[in-house]
Amino acid sequence: MNQQNSAYDVIVIGLGGMGSAAAYHLAARGQRVLGLERFTPAHDKGSSHGGSRIIRQSYFEDPAYVPLLLRAYELWEALARESGRDVYRLTGGLFLGPPDCVTVAGSLRASRQWGLAHQVLDAREIRSRFPNFTPNDGDVALYEAKAGFARPELTVAAHLALAENAGATLQFGEKVLEWAETAGGVTVRTGQGAYTAGQLMICPGAWAPQLLADFGVPITIERQVLYWLDPVRGTSSFTDHPIFIDENDSGMQIYGFPAIDGPRGGVKVAFFRKGVECTPETIDRTVYPHEIGEMRERVGQLLPDLDGPCLHSATCMYSNTPDQHFVIARHPECTHVIVACGFSGHGFKFVPVVGEILADLAIDGATDHPISLFDPSRLVTT
Ligand SMILES: Cc1cc2nc3c(=O)[nH]c(=O)nc-3n(C[C@H](O)[C@H](O)[C@H](O)COP(=O)(O)OP(=O)(O)OC[C@H]3O[C@@H](n4cnc5c(N)ncnc54)[C@H](O)[C@@H]3O)c2cc1C
Repeated sequence: MNQQNSAYDVIVIGLGGMGSAAAYHLAARGQRVLGLERFTPAHDKGSSHGGSRIIRQSYFEDPAYVPLLLRAYELWEALARESGRDVYRLTGGLFLGPPDCVTVAGSLRASRQWGLAHQVLDAREIRSRFPNFTPNDGDVALYEAKAGFARPELTVAAHLALAENAGATLQFGEKVLEWAETAGGVTVRTGQGAYTAGQLMICPGAWAPQLLADFGVPITIERQVLYWLDPVRGTSSFTDHPIFIDENDSGMQIYGFPAIDGPRGGVKVAFFRKGVECTPETIDRTVYPHEIGEMRERVGQLLPDLDGPCLHSATCMYSNTPDQHFVIARHPECTHVIVACGFSGHGFKFVPVVGEILADLAIDGATDHPISLFDPSRLVTT
């Protein structure tokens, strides 16, 4: 499949979460890789910044993700070892709400189906084991010891460093303007030059609508806000603390992390899916007092000690498909092009395994990983 005269086997567009992992796995398996990124390494303008991302296995979204998570965990461990960086940490995770809500019932379903270790706690047990939480009397929680968080910027930096060590050429501050398929491969034009390769991998994050205009998969970009609150009694009771996702009666989920940024670093919390539609050009990066007020009100109900001033906030973009499942596949009309997009606000925990899957697709033409859920034909509208 490789174009004979190209200097590269694969060009990767976008070196964020997925593209940096793909560049590493491809280069480690002997491919000549060119990575092109419009911004700087591990930047904060896309979807892979903000210091932490939840990782977990009891996947309430769909049990079909669990085998991928089991492999992702092996690769998280390998990435930490090979890069020598603290890219992830297991803290335990608490998934709370009414017994029949998606967060609790879905986590339980995935745990039971795959035999994952877990405990179910009633409200009294939650309060006594995790005294920061004040759940409603009828609430329950699934506790998963293997949940924790990944460090997105460190992860991207680790994959980039390992990719370069393995021989990849990575170019930053270089925006791809257009790409095209040719008889034997692909051409890519940037502000700085033109390149050819046997295959192209497009990992565009929130720029999917631009880079994949003819792909036919509707992806909606959404602004999301992260808040770092200052606990009223200091961070010490939040340092040795599980990550959590809480769902209330109306189905709105919030999630949070331990205090991982020191005594003045606060505790990060966010709404899971409470965004307004935007584009990377139009996203409003200002976080407003009424948004902070809304977050503090919810936190005040669940974790009263965390309801302190907001020290810092940030915005980030989700790239949502209509069914919130990913898109990972060969481009249906361009045989030399592989696409990974639409990670719908829950992709980071899969970053290492997506890198492996993308390398499988480019090198072997197929993967043994179960990815039928991510087939774009389920969504194509044009
Ligand atoms: C607030 C927030 C919280 C989240 N929480 C979690 C969580 O707890 N757990 C979890 O698993 N997931 C979480 N996610 C989702 C996860 O972070 C994303 O699914 C993941 O980071 C997406 O990675 P990506 O590679 O698709 O996008 P990105 O990392 O944004 O990478 C895309 C890259 O493509 C580059 N690019 C785009 N266009 C061009 C061009 N024309 N030329 C060159 N380069 C280009 C961009 O600059 C960017 O670097 C969260 C996301 C957000 C925003």
